[in-house]
Amino acid sequence: MKAISILNLIEEGICVIKEDFTIEFMNKSMIRDFGEGVGKKCYRVINGSDERCPWCRAEEVFEGATLNSELHLPAKGKYYTLIEMSLKNKNVSKSKVSIFKDITKRKISEEKARSSEEDYKRLFEHVRSGLYVSSKEGKFLNANRYLLDMLGYESKEEFLNIEITKDLYVRPEDRDKFMDNIEQNGYVIDYEVNFKRKDGSLLPVLMTSHVRYDNENKILGYEGIMVDQSQRKQMEEEYKRLFENVGCGVFISTREGKFINANQALLDMLGYKSKEDFLNIDITKDLYARAEDRNKFMDMIEKQGHVIGYEVEFKRKDGTIIPVLLTGHVRYDQQGKLIGYEGINIDLSQRKQMEKELRETNDFLNNFIKSSPNAIMASDMKGDIFIWNKAAEEILEYKAYEVIGKMNIRKIYPEGVAQQVMKMLRSPDYGGIGKLRSYPMVYKRRDGQIIEGNLSAAIVYDGQGKEIASVGVFVDLKERLDMERKLRITQEQLLQSEKLAAMGRLTSQIAHELNNPLYGIMNTLELLKTEVSPQSKRRKILEMALSETVRLTELLRKMLSFSRPDEEEKQTVDINTIIDEILVLVKKQLQENGVTIASSFSPDLDQVFASKNQLRQVFLNLISNARDAMPEGGTLTVKTSPNKDNIHIEFTDTGIGIDQEIIEKIFDSFFTTKDSIKGVGLGLSVCYGFIKEHGGHIQVSSRIGEGTTFTITLPSYKENFEE
Ligand code: ADP
Repeated sequence: MKAISILNLIEEGICVIKEDFTIEFMNKSMIRDFGEGVGKKCYRVINGSDERCPWCRAEEVFEGATLNSELHLPAKGKYYTLIEMSLKNKNVSKSKVSIFKDITKRKISEEKARSSEEDYKRLFEHVRSGLYVSSKEGKFLNANRYLLDMLGYESKEEFLNIEITKDLYVRPEDRDKFMDNIEQNGYVIDYEVNFKRKDGSLLPVLMTSHVRYDNENKILGYEGIMVDQSQRKQMEEEYKRLFENVGCGVFISTREGKFINANQALLDMLGYKSKEDFLNIDITKDLYARAEDRNKFMDMIEKQGHVIGYEVEFKRKDGTIIPVLLTGHVRYDQQGKLIGYEGINIDLSQRKQMEKELRETNDFLNNFIKSSPNAIMASDMKGDIFIWNKAAEEILEYKAYEVIGKMNIRKIYPEGVAQQVMKMLRSPDYGGIGKLRSYPMVYKRRDGQIIEGNLSAAIVYDGQGKEIASVGVFVDLKERLDMERKLRITQEQLLQSEKLAAMGRLTSQIAHELNNPLYGIMNTLELLKTEVSPQSKRRKILEMALSETVRLTELLRKMLSFSRPDEEEKQTVDINTIIDEILVLVKKQLQENGVTIASSFSPDLDQVFASKNQLRQVFLNLISNARDAMPEGGTLTVKTSPNKDNIHIEFTDTGIGIDQEIIEKIFDSFFTTKDSIKGVGLGLSVCYGFIKEHGGHIQVSSRIGEGTTFTITLPSYKENFEE
């Protein structure tokens, strides 16, 4: 029993197993590790299985062998050393003792050690920097692949053979410096040095290393990291270049208000020759045009960490002020304390100037468009109008606010013409593709009236050459055309009056020539009359001849007074007389056309100050129009009447009348409904011109099938007695 209690004190698990694998005994440690198992099969208790353990060599032990082995029980997560020995019993039965020693702890730390060694190895080989171990004398003892690649060596053997001082350092004295440094402090951090690659090319590296000692604390050599700096160097170079050559001013400044660095562009921008000078200025006082702007900038940048596009005014060295666009962010030191700002300054003076010029150009263009005497209109490709200037308002009688964004440009074109214009614009034949050069065009005014003129137009393209709008400049030629017509009319009038004058001269000559013989005849007839008895038939014939002769002389007298050249001149005239004279001349002709004349002259008519000749032409025109209007005959009533300071003259016919649709056009030049032999459409426009010239006006009223009345109003001539 004593023996058993001793067994229970032992740390190792001990169990006795019979030949049939039944457990006979377990000490306390065994029970603790595997649970109570006496009487159970050993494989059940130890391996948790109903089959024999795969590592079991019980037969050998029963035969007398002692076995030492290591056991890993993954289900328990434990490692054991196992010692098995046979037990000789008093009877012949066989059993064995198994002693389990728990070595899990040791195993795990061994495992750990192994794996960390592997980790280090892996790290050593795969880290993205060069690692080395070197001897004090100047040979590499080890180096990783990365270092070899960095320095351009294929084989490690070769690399371990090189002379560090001579083959690696560009300047061998740098190795001495390095050694001095490292041996003094035991380490070196970020030592910057230039190495030679195998091919001789230069490689800047950053070395961080420490000393290796032997057991006696003697320096064996060094080990550490080498970081390839070529890329950083290159980037630094690039940054430097960028810093210096970027087109805008770059700065680094302190919070307190000094520049730490600035590029040339900033110096140039602010007119400083020397950088030293510039780094000395007081930013708040010497740079900002208004010191409070620097405070504003600081407030903003410290609140948000950055400022983008702060528009501010800076003083240049010479005191001139420039507008600047400031963009920057804050700078911190290693402890995260805010120490200043860095950023860029863009000189806005050019941009401001350009903006100003642009604005001016824009204003100019706007004014130009606004005040152009020609209609300027623009529409998008759908035809929606977006420019409509004052002249367009006047010529086409639509207000800008009625059309912009509301009306389609097609509306001002006669049917189908807008499409025609677009076709011409896109064709190369009218001034080039996208252009139309001064092309005769008609537009429809608001009231439907057609406006004639010239259109110049263009398509507006965007940057990609897509059509985005069309612009048109329309020159209203109505006035010019009217002028041209007027000119033509005046010429016609001149011709006409010349003709009349010539005719007048001829008539008066003839009248004059006829006058004397006619008086002779009249006298002779008078004489003859006295010789014939009043009752006789001959006397009657004589008197008839005499009265015809008198009528003839009367006619001659009127003819003489008609068409004298001096009658172009304005003078005081009696309208009744003029009309009477004309009616005498045309009576016969009208009668032949079946037209009867009815006249009603007011005896109280004032005189007018007028050109007889022109008035005659007016009256003659109205009379011949009336005659034309009454092809079947009718009555022409001529009436004069006073009306306050004016006189009225009415010509009323009972003719065909005038359609309301054309009544407004009859005074237009060349408007006629007659065939080309009868009319050219000038009569009424000449009348209109003459009457206007006399300060009067002419009106028409008419009913289809009933007749027409033309009413002329002329101002009465009042003599000014006070003068
Ligand atoms: P023209 O007689 O050569 O046609 P006008 O200028 O004198 O030219 O007249 C223009 C038009 O006005 C005429 O063609 C005619 O249609 C119309 N017109 C003028 N007077 C009359 C009238 N008394 N009755 C009807 N139509 C008239």
